[in-house]
Amino acid sequence: MNNAVAVYPGSFDPLTVGHEDIVRRSLGVVDRLIVAVAETATQAKSGLFEIEERVDLIREVFADEPRIEATSFSGLLVDFARSRQARIIVRGLRAVSDFEYEFQMALMNRSLWPEVEVLFMAPSTRHTFLSSSLVREVGRLGGDVTDFVSPVVKARMDRAFGRDA
Ligand code: ADP
Repeated sequence: MNNAVAVYPGSFDPLTVGHEDIVRRSLGVVDRLIVAVAETATQAKSGLFEIEERVDLIREVFADEPRIEATSFSGLLVDFARSRQARIIVRGLRAVSDFEYEFQMALMNRSLWPEVEVLFMAPSTRHTFLSSSLVREVGRLGGDVTDFVSPVVKARMDRAFGRDA
């Protein structure tokens, strides 16, 4: 594929090493990747960071990678992807439990925009148990999240939970 641009959408609240794994693997397949924080969460989640803060953290974590752009979007994912001429949507699959929802979303997105392709990536097995909601919960309860997020994310989480060094 020539100059293949993909969108990796999600809530990224916060970005975990599981997300980072998917991002870096995607760069082996596509030329440019737009990591896009969804402004309208499909499910109600008890959030941690504001949208702009999540975008900033993604930018900081991938500061060394010019092929990655971090941004946010509202409205339909396919409308955003089309506006950026990104015909590929990247999603991560941790386990069979992710599959049903992801498959349904993929087919819905394709019926909304027939040219789009959804690329499912599997993370390293050591990241399969990670989710942002679990990492948030562990952090909130005072657990050590060092292994689950980048140092910049960890520092921002400590501050959010009032645990500045
Ligand atoms: P979460 O489900 O952790 O709240 P997001 O809504 O931000 O995360 O998910 C964005 C995408 O990243 C989804 O496709 C999700 O399946 C994927 N993803 C999240 N965590 C991981 C992980 N540990 N390994 C692989 N993919 C992941």
